[in-house]
Amino acid sequence: MTDRVREFLRSHRHEGPCLVVDLEEVRQNYLAFERALPDSRIFYAMKANPAPEILSALAALGSCFDCASVVEIGAALAAGATPERISYGNTIKKERDIATAHRLGVGLFAVDCIEEVEKVARAAPGARVFCRILCDGAGADWPLSRKFGCTPEHAPEVLEHAHRLGLVAAGISFHVGSQQRNTEAWDAAIAGASAIFRTMAERGIRLTLVNLGGGFPARYRGDEPAAVRYGQSIRESILRHFGNRPPETIIEPGRGMVGSAGVLKTEVVLISKKDPSEDTRWVYLDIGKFGGLAETMDEAIRYPIRSERDGEAAGPCVVAGPTCDSADVLYEKTPYLLPLSLEIGDMLLFEGTGAYTTTYASVGFNGFAPLKSLVI
Ligand SMILES: *Cc1c(COP(=O)(O)O)cnc(C)c1O
Repeated sequence: MTDRVREFLRSHRHEGPCLVVDLEEVRQNYLAFERALPDSRIFYAMKANPAPEILSALAALGSCFDCASVVEIGAALAAGATPERISYGNTIKKERDIATAHRLGVGLFAVDCIEEVEKVARAAPGARVFCRILCDGAGADWPLSRKFGCTPEHAPEVLEHAHRLGLVAAGISFHVGSQQRNTEAWDAAIAGASAIFRTMAERGIRLTLVNLGGGFPARYRGDEPAAVRYGQSIRESILRHFGNRPPETIIEPGRGMVGSAGVLKTEVVLISKKDPSEDTRWVYLDIGKFGGLAETMDEAIRYPIRSERDGEAAGPCVVAGPTCDSADVLYEKTPYLLPLSLEIGDMLLFEGTGAYTTTYASVGFNGFAPLKSLVI
């Protein structure tokens, strides 16, 4: 947690849970990515946190934006990004939304099948497209499954179809899984991309772009490798597989851009035990899975939890949210150690919550308001 956030929380004891985002930390993360991969353009995956202040700050630094919908494209434009700095990176788009994006000047689209290529060719004639290939997500805390991407074997067909329909077959994209702890995880996909480049060259189509996706971690446990280590590993992979003809590259950090910039303030509503003989306490907070902490699903993301009583003797706690849905338990399989002196009414802080929280909050399940966001 930065001193700015600590100071802000001290002087602003807001009612109810809130997320405080330190814009300076976001800027530092952007600059760290720029240093780690100086030859890659940065497209912020804005779904991670689309707060207008964040988008404007990144736009001012020169960032591009990876958008998943027309609304996100509108927000990126409003923040000051020009259409050439926007990628419509969702492989699942309505044809009329593609047409709207095209009308707004967006010229770069993701595809992963023939059917989507046909939509783009009709609604955005002449646009650049990149084909997303499947990645297994091994090594990631929040893998992205088989929902997006085609097999590397099928990609040339998809791109060739795009070329035949008058689109620019630009290249390949992939996503190695979010919160990817393995700095080498990009290597296999970069090798796969270079093989597709060769296949396409044999067919007379020259690809130019490799979109390396996101996956760069936020700091939760503290042992996550820094951006510079990912950059080094990726640059070595590109040299290994593309030699002295490196492609144009893009990265799309979401979590790694904003995760570390957010601290979520919550209040202890109840502390109880299921039976007095048990050691484990149940700690119920005023925020849970439906208030923005959806990534605690399967306890995949374990945020550091801080209390003003840290340093005192601690014991195991199940941590749960306030709603009347029994799925609203954050951590039970692996209990958290929280101070034994913790009391009802205490404030707890969840660190590393700048990504995938405010927009995951439900509109008002059980009457609990959506997570408030304060950008400082
Ligand atoms: C969500 C997403 C990202 C961001 O992933 P992180 O793991 O948060 O960095 C990047 N690219 C695409 C296409 C995405 O859908």
